[in-house]
Amino acid sequence: MAALSARARALISRSALHGNLSALSARSGTPLILPVKAGAYGHGLEVTARLAAEHPGVWGFAVAVPREAQALAALELGRPILLLTPPTPDEVPVLADLGVRLPVASLAEAEALPPHARAHLKVDTGMNRLGARPEEAVSIGRRLHERGVLEGVYTHFATSDEPDLGFAHEQFRRFQGVLDRLPPVLAHASNGGGILSLGELPGMALARPGLASYGFAPAHLRGVAPLRPVMTLQARVTHVHTARAGETVSYGGLWTAPRDTRLATVGLGYADGYPRNATGKAQVLVQEERRAVVGRICMDQFMVDVTGLEVQTGDWIEVWGRQVTVSEVAAWGETVEYEVLTGLGERVERIGVA
Ligand SMILES: *Cc1c(COP(=O)(O)O)cnc(C)c1O
Repeated sequence: MAALSARARALISRSALHGNLSALSARSGTPLILPVKAGAYGHGLEVTARLAAEHPGVWGFAVAVPREAQALAALELGRPILLLTPPTPDEVPVLADLGVRLPVASLAEAEALPPHARAHLKVDTGMNRLGARPEEAVSIGRRLHERGVLEGVYTHFATSDEPDLGFAHEQFRRFQGVLDRLPPVLAHASNGGGILSLGELPGMALARPGLASYGFAPAHLRGVAPLRPVMTLQARVTHVHTARAGETVSYGGLWTAPRDTRLATVGLGYADGYPRNATGKAQVLVQEERRAVVGRICMDQFMVDVTGLEVQTGDWIEVWGRQVTVSEVAAWGETVEYEVLTGLGERVERIGVA
């Protein structure tokens, strides 16, 4: 049987990923826990984790849900895996057997861990999402220590990617108040925003940069560390034709050809995560030129004005990467880089490159 090829592919750059990890590890002054939740922010769990495991600054990985932990454990990369959200009671022994580090936020959870489990005490210092309040965390941490299962303690910043760092400092102060009353264990707090804005934090053994590891920083923190986008997204031209002057293109007839217009139809759409809200604004890179996406972005396809270019069926065009950035696409789609990246669908092939 002939091989059937994907219509879109995400090239995952080892050198960009490693460069970002080196820069972030240097800025935090610690090894890193790389968040690879949500398919490594859309970059592909397996491809990304394999490339990252070759970097000496990666202590381990963090995932959001138990099935991600299981999939990652199956790769046997020899690095610790931290689960970031609470498992159900029946999942605890399964995950402990896999060696997954478990978040703990109550005495009941601390008591229920099997003796071979490894726990990271989660302290809620102001995010109000998960974790034990600081005044409860100390006794939970001491109990985990008594049971010989306490490996780490962590918290999560709510506002570290914003210009005003007042609340982030307050959260860290609360976290230190807990750490001061616990035996020494691996403490970690900063996400990417925290590393970029706060730099080295006293007493921290690790840090957890997600989006920054994949190459993106909040606008006011660009330039703090040399980050490069790890992903280049390409899609294939499936058809080339000419729309006559005055004809409309795509659903709703939103765009009218002002002149005879050479159009390339591309095999990527909103079902793959290309934001439908970017209609009327989006551009792509065709033969190193920025070209407009015209008409409504469809579920599986969009059309590009390629007038004057020699474009053929089967050509690859660049949807985002170093020139047209995910940040631009997010702005056109009225969302954020996180959502654009994690929305990238299953039909897109992920390929590791040098
Ligand atoms: C997702 C997540 C991170 C990474 O956040 P970024 O903003 O992508 O750097 C770190 N810690 C926790 C607990 C998270 O859920």
